[in-house]
Amino acid sequence: MSRDSSESGAATGVTGSDSDAPLLEVDDVVKRFGGLTAIDHASFGVEAESVTGLIGPNGAGKSTLFNCVTGMLTPDSGAVRLAGEDVQDLPPNRIAQRGLGRTFQTPKIFRGMSVRENLAFAARGQTGERPISALVQPGTVGSEEADIRERVDDTLEFLSLDHLAEEYASGLSGGQRKLLELGRVLMLDPEIILLDEPMAGVNPSLADDLLDRLHELNDRGRTILLIEHDMDLVMNHCDRVVVLHNGQTLASGPPSIVQEDERVVEAYLGGFENE
Ligand code: ADP
Ligand code: MG
Repeated sequence: MSRDSSESGAATGVTGSDSDAPLLEVDDVVKRFGGLTAIDHASFGVEAESVTGLIGPNGAGKSTLFNCVTGMLTPDSGAVRLAGEDVQDLPPNRIAQRGLGRTFQTPKIFRGMSVRENLAFAARGQTGERPISALVQPGTVGSEEADIRERVDDTLEFLSLDHLAEEYASGLSGGQRKLLELGRVLMLDPEIILLDEPMAGVNPSLADDLLDRLHELNDRGRTILLIEHDMDLVMNHCDRVVVLHNGQTLASGPPSIVQEDERVVEAYLGGFENE
């Protein structure tokens, strides 16, 4: 529905054949769990280089939709396109290789590893896959390790986690774990980053840090799609908003327009009261 973004263009790294198409496209997706239709013909596009917010009451289907987009779940029908190509039948690692990174509501990190090891581990095992292989000479394991070390240092610095590099992940605060999980995603140099409630349970100052990092990534050309509960945050920080309700896309577009949509106000605020 967001067709009026004139300067989106194709993102670097992911080669789209159709430059007018959104970088990510959810097209009439249905996902059922037994008798429950969690995603009910949802459709929307995420423009390249946008910060798009996915909102909706608890149980609306936001996380399920993320799982369909990232390959954790296969939709019962409909298509998911990344840079114009169908990916709904690909496994998560193949979708990740195509430049899609995601974080989870509960961070997926290795608690018994140091922060530095967590980041390095995210990048290892990528040989032959994008993007590490593009940066190293074939057969030069030593230089691959050196490259990973450098990328770990860059990521630690970018997320201001340097001072915690040797700490066990188990010793981090909730917010620091979310930063670390974002770092693990960044080690794969994704084109589009999906974040499931990244600010939930994060103290306000770390949440601000996290938002700043997301904006900086966006300034560097990364596309951001985030699930977020806080309406004010979405309105102030997203270029585009998609509203999901009962598995259906109620509205999508610029925040100022979506905010005034009566159905959205009704559905979303109604849902909020139940939380
Ligand atoms: P949200 O993230 O918007 O809160 P979810 O995507 O987690 O919503 O859930 C959407 C609906 O699908 C809810 O009714 C939830 O109970 C149901 N659901 C989610 N995952 C599963 C599953 N694996 N099996 C059965 N039902 C599920
Ligand atoms: Mg959820």
